Amino acid sequence: MLESDTSKLSKKELNIIQNYTEGLFKTVREPLLVLDRHRNVVGLNSNLKKKFKINGEFEERVSVFEFNNGQLDTPEFRDILDYLQTEGNTVTERDIQVVLPQKRKRGFTVNASVLPLPDENSIILLSFKKLKNIGDLSRQEKVYNRLVENILSNAPAAICILRGQEHTFEVANEHYIELIGHRDIIGKTVKEAIPEAESQGFIELLDHVYSTGEPYIGNETPLKLKVGKDEFKNSHLNFVYQPTRNKKGKIDGIFVHVVDVSEQVVARKNVEDSEARLRSVINTVPAIIWITDTDGQSVFLNKNWYSYTGQNNEDAKGMGWLDATHPDDRKKAEFAFLDAHNQKKSYSISFRLRNKQGEYRWVLDKASPKFDDDGNYEGMIGTVIDVHEERLKENLVREKDHRLQGIVKEATVATAIYTGREMNIELANDAMIKLWGKDDSVIGTPLHKALPELDGQPFLGLLRNVLETGEIYWGKEDKVDLMIDGEMQTGYYNFTYKPLRDKNGEIYGILNMAIDVTESVTSKMLLKESEFHFRQMADLMPGMVSKTDAKGDDIYFNKNWLDFTGKGSKFLQEVGWESFIHPDEKETFLKAWEDCLNTGCNLEMQLRLKNKEGKYIWHLTRCEAVKEDDGSVKMWIAANTEIDKIKEEEKRKEEFLKMVSHELKTPVTSIKGYVQLLLTLLKKQKEAAEASKLPLQPSLERINHQVTRLTRLISEILDLSRIRENQLELKSEEFNLNELLAETIQDINYTNTQHKIALESEVQCQIIADRDRIGQVVINFVMNAIKYSPGSQEINVKISREDKDKVRVSVKDFGIGIGQENHKKIFKRFYRVGVKSEETYSGFGIGLYLANEIIERHNGEIQLNSELGKGSEFSFILNATQITS
Ligand code: ADP
Repeated sequence: MLESDTSKLSKKELNIIQNYTEGLFKTVREPLLVLDRHRNVVGLNSNLKKKFKINGEFEERVSVFEFNNGQLDTPEFRDILDYLQTEGNTVTERDIQVVLPQKRKRGFTVNASVLPLPDENSIILLSFKKLKNIGDLSRQEKVYNRLVENILSNAPAAICILRGQEHTFEVANEHYIELIGHRDIIGKTVKEAIPEAESQGFIELLDHVYSTGEPYIGNETPLKLKVGKDEFKNSHLNFVYQPTRNKKGKIDGIFVHVVDVSEQVVARKNVEDSEARLRSVINTVPAIIWITDTDGQSVFLNKNWYSYTGQNNEDAKGMGWLDATHPDDRKKAEFAFLDAHNQKKSYSISFRLRNKQGEYRWVLDKASPKFDDDGNYEGMIGTVIDVHEERLKENLVREKDHRLQGIVKEATVATAIYTGREMNIELANDAMIKLWGKDDSVIGTPLHKALPELDGQPFLGLLRNVLETGEIYWGKEDKVDLMIDGEMQTGYYNFTYKPLRDKNGEIYGILNMAIDVTESVTSKMLLKESEFHFRQMADLMPGMVSKTDAKGDDIYFNKNWLDFTGKGSKFLQEVGWESFIHPDEKETFLKAWEDCLNTGCNLEMQLRLKNKEGKYIWHLTRCEAVKEDDGSVKMWIAANTEIDKIKEEEKRKEEFLKMVSHELKTPVTSIKGYVQLLLTLLKKQKEAAEASKLPLQPSLERINHQVTRLTRLISEILDLSRIRENQLELKSEEFNLNELLAETIQDINYTNTQHKIALESEVQCQIIADRDRIGQVVINFVMNAIKYSPGSQEINVKISREDKDKVRVSVKDFGIGIGQENHKKIFKRFYRVGVKSEETYSGFGIGLYLANEIIERHNGEIQLNSELGKGSEFSFILNATQITS
């Protein structure tokens, strides 16, 4: 806006202007005001003075806004000047209000224009025409105007009346003024008041209505109003342009009725936008989305449905979508939907859906009920996703699973699968169920419930550990107590707990395979036990027992072996027991042993083994094979029994037989000699008839003596066998022991003239015994005393009291005597001191044995007192019935 600045007008300029104005004032009757380009008053005519009630001189070159107490300083008037000067337009018929003295307002119609002057000067010409005063109206007009004013101000709509071809605002209510942003519009044309309306086609519309008389109804028509310098406001308007006619029926204006529906439009637009957005989202998601109404009828399917199934809107609506499902799945799909719809609940179902190409593919249909803010059911909303590939894979897996299950079921190895933290028995084959002693009902239950007896046993903990660490557990002959047939039973099992992993490597379960090894464990235990017993027995056995494996390698030696050799078991295993065999037998043994190993036949032989003192002792060696059921050799047991003593006895027996034959031969030869002699003599006597000269008596005595020896020998041998067979019978008779001794010594003396046998009787005694056998003992003692004292002739026999009722008979010689070490041995069968001297002292080694047996059987006792080289004294002590001194 240009500021009033009079100083900028030169005097010359002023003069020119005033000259112009003078001329104008003379010709123009209407009130006229002239301003320079700075809006300073340069002149006014008398009519203006009159109308504006200006008394006296006007203030020259004062700003028009200060003119006559600022009468013209109104927004409308400023608008007019701005409009004039900026646009270079003329202003016609513009109404303004001017405040006159006493504050009365007066309306004027202003016409104005800018008049260019030379030297680029210009003046502004303003003519004022007085508007009709209200007071000037007819009464009818006044009533009408009030009514209009009333209607306008109370109407809820924005209303205005445009007058004339230029559509000048005649009346506008406050809503209208407000609608267009409180602009000063009365008296202005639409083009002037709302210049932006032109480009938006409103002027054209108004022109059309004015020229044709056809009303126009605008519906939600957008209008862009200028609200600031570069600011616009968008509105949406419902409006009516209704032409008005004058009394003559000619169109003279337009009634405008506007309702601002911007808010509704925006709100609806927003809804529409968000719906559109939702739809576009719904249509872009890679899934089928569907919505049904409260009756279960499909009301929306996104375009994926149509492109997938090839159905159209018409096909799919209501329950038409079911036509695209597989005939076999249709009922299932329908039921699942209706059931969820009726119960207003979520559901999920898988069925086959026909695609555009006519191929049925597996889909997953998932839906939830929809409720409004008040909780009223609005229908279902759901999605359909193609899961064909996954489903096929799943089927494959299932098939695999099925096959696996089949395999597990068929497997003879007890197998079970546990899943989850609870160790649910997912699968258990018959073998496993039998092993548990349970039935099928355990499948699907947690392991600790199915087998409560596991509580307190380590297995549940082991399983948990496998689940946590993923490390396989191998059970080796683990002891498991299971409740089978209502009884706790102990078994032994080899088993595995192997973690099962899903495709992501996560452990989801455990595979348990178990083998019952109870029998083998218990037999092993039995074996161990019997092995222990064997060793114990082997150690207790008097012989030396050893064990070798099938190949003949030594693996065990009993205690006697260790004691005998003085070596440790390890040493014996290393060198083998054959290293103790006497060199004379070793080769034979090794050869025989090799045969054994080759043939599996047993071995028995006698050999000498060297003891820890380095002495070889005779043993009977037996090697026997222990065989498996199939006949193969499992091991060898070798037993070595000491036979040194047996060997010796055997030797003695041999000598005895030699001796017996020798002893028998001597008397028989002798008898034969004497008989031959006698026969020869008899023959000669016949010839010589001199029988009385025959030496018959001494020959017969000799024969008699030899027969006696033979008889004794034979009866001794008989006694020997009787004793062996426990058939020695004793007679029981009371007799005088002194008499028996006297008789016996006499008999001996009769045949033994070289020795002097003295009998000393300290007591007289009666005993109850077998008289002949006691005599036999006495003969034996005396005969030995004779035999073993070649250098001495003295033999003393004595009968004495041993005890109150015991008597002692002793036979003492002064012969070769017996060493202490043989005192006991000589009473054994066939034992003779110094075996090699059998030729020196004939005998069988049975005399003392028989004597000892006879005395023992009489509850008596034999005693020996002897020293080597000094002689011997053999005594026996018997119970006596009577002893007298
Ligand atoms: P034998 O027929 O050998 O005499 P015996 O049984 O009577 O058998 O005696 C056993 C052995 O006891 C004899 O071989 C002998 O060595 C020893 N013996 C027995 N009596 C005497 C004795 N009076 N003096 C020395 N040795 C004796």
